[in-house]
Amino acid sequence: MDLDVLPVDIALREPFGIATGAKTAALNVFVRATLADGTRGWGEAAPFEAVNGERREVALGAIHRARDTLVGWDARAWRSLGGQLRELAPESPSARCAIETAVLDAITRSLGISLATFFGGLETELFSDLTITTGTAARARESAFSIARQGYRTIKLKVGGSSVADDVARIRAVIEAAPSCSLVLDGNAALTQEDAVAIALECKTMGGELALFEQPCAREDDDAAIFVHDRARVLVCADESVGSVKDVARLARKGAAQAINLKITKSGVVECYDMACVARAHGLGLMVGGMVESSMAMSASAHLACGVGGVEFVDLDTPLWLVDEPVVAEMTREGPRLSIAKVRAGHGARPSDAWLAERRVEP
Ligand SMILES: [Mg+2]
Repeated sequence: MDLDVLPVDIALREPFGIATGAKTAALNVFVRATLADGTRGWGEAAPFEAVNGERREVALGAIHRARDTLVGWDARAWRSLGGQLRELAPESPSARCAIETAVLDAITRSLGISLATFFGGLETELFSDLTITTGTAARARESAFSIARQGYRTIKLKVGGSSVADDVARIRAVIEAAPSCSLVLDGNAALTQEDAVAIALECKTMGGELALFEQPCAREDDDAAIFVHDRARVLVCADESVGSVKDVARLARKGAAQAINLKITKSGVVECYDMACVARAHGLGLMVGGMVESSMAMSASAHLACGVGGVEFVDLDTPLWLVDEPVVAEMTREGPRLSIAKVRAGHGARPSDAWLAERRVEP
């Protein structure tokens, strides 16, 4: 096996703001794995500094280091890849994600099956939410109205970037503009437990259908998650606080999450697959999400979610933020509905011929 590494800059239509910072461009990395039989597969690293401190230079360094070790390695032993990469690149989960995705894409292309089939083949379609990032109430209202008109049933609203009063005003605007949509709030680990409870209770009082409160409080504060669940009677979904199978087991044991957000960019693909199985064994709900990713990483996540099946919350919307994403994907997107039914092999996404030609890379 061999790996190629290609940095990719993708402009965003508008800044993607969360409680802890905003992103104005996706500075990601594409990785190409080539197997001994010549089959190629693609993966993407999407480091998001405001979420976990990871920057592209870190991911690039980690991928190059892993490459030196992995060249010549037998990719059929894919099960060991997650563990190997954790040792080689402990500081860069997004690098692990890119390499694992590329290898699994290549293996499944070589086998002539889709990545979803490889992971169990239970489903072929998902219904995604659409996110409203941090900002003003007026902007939230406008976005919510447009999202509902496009047929989405769930809106994810980023909270925790301003005062409780501001967030409550934004939630009110969303409920008024999109009364038929259920809500997922995401605090990105920035709220106190008291503020999170206040926001959740206000949301319910205003008639909002609060389906889930994602990572309201600090990642290491399991007690705060329990507090929010108990006091606000809301399902808490762990995101920043869950990156591994070990985390899933801990949260389940303590009752500190009722669902977990699976992200390949955060945990790697192999670990995510195991996390889904362990979460299910503990009766936890599943969400699938991402960082600010192109349709390449999002396709891989959709295949994982469809393969294992039963992923109730789907947050695979960031390609809609990108201007001219340089990716061709076989996964289709019609409003909230994502379908992988037509994907013949692998995850079905790769850089466009034009993008590769510009970089003098043969397709
Ligand atoms: Mg989140």
